[in-house]
Amino acid sequence: MARKFFVGGNFKLNPVSREQKKAIVKVLNEAELDDAVEVVIAPPSIYLLSLLELVRPSIKISAQNCYSKSSGAFTGEISAAQLVDAGVPYVILGHSERRTLFHETSEIVAEKTKAAVDAGLSVILCVGESLAEREAGVTAKVVESQLEPVIKLLNEKDWSNIVIAYEPVWAIGTGKVASPAQAQETHHDIRAYLSKAVSQDVAESTRIIYGGSVSAKNCKELATLPDVDGFLVGGASLKPEFVDIINSKKVA
Ligand code: PEP
Repeated sequence: MARKFFVGGNFKLNPVSREQKKAIVKVLNEAELDDAVEVVIAPPSIYLLSLLELVRPSIKISAQNCYSKSSGAFTGEISAAQLVDAGVPYVILGHSERRTLFHETSEIVAEKTKAAVDAGLSVILCVGESLAEREAGVTAKVVESQLEPVIKLLNEKDWSNIVIAYEPVWAIGTGKVASPAQAQETHHDIRAYLSKAVSQDVAESTRIIYGGSVSAKNCKELATLPDVDGFLVGGASLKPEFVDIINSKKVA
């Protein structure tokens, strides 16, 4: 089964004003975008509703996080059910900034993932190793240990609503992109692990996208790799070059 190329923009805690938000939307709404690509943008939660209205309908909206409980006394949280009710189809979970700065364990990420999928969301599930872990040669082990709790909680059918984002921590926001060989090897390892731990069908149909300093300059080569099904883009998703990344598969 062909896997539809996927490009996500993770705005993180940006833009910092409604004016900047409008400028980003203008670029995306006026651009010529490859319609064979699924495009998703993830603004801060305060802009989710306005972007649902403002951005062209072919671009989907994602939250950057949600909680595992559906309602109750959880100050500051947003539930998957609320996102679904608001018309938001995607959520990013397990981003390395959530794992490190906000101490989310792989078990917490797994609970959130299950809650999100059960509520009807699709999940961009982030995994990735630190520089020390890559240098110690344990990348595959680390990524498997991040996926294992998710695999334990999900049913096989739930995987149709998961996009895995492989994001080496050392490449996020650093300008140091993984080499095509490093990206292909890890994506291939993740697919092999899914095949062993879930099923061959899930391994073949699940999109595994790469994130970490993707730019207009490096995206074309990465997009040709057999196990790279798209990108999760941070910094460059706020700039006009995001359009070039969305169109990275297009022959000029
Ligand atoms: C990210 O935050 O998901 C990311 C990949 O960031 P950047 O593209 O800036 O490295």
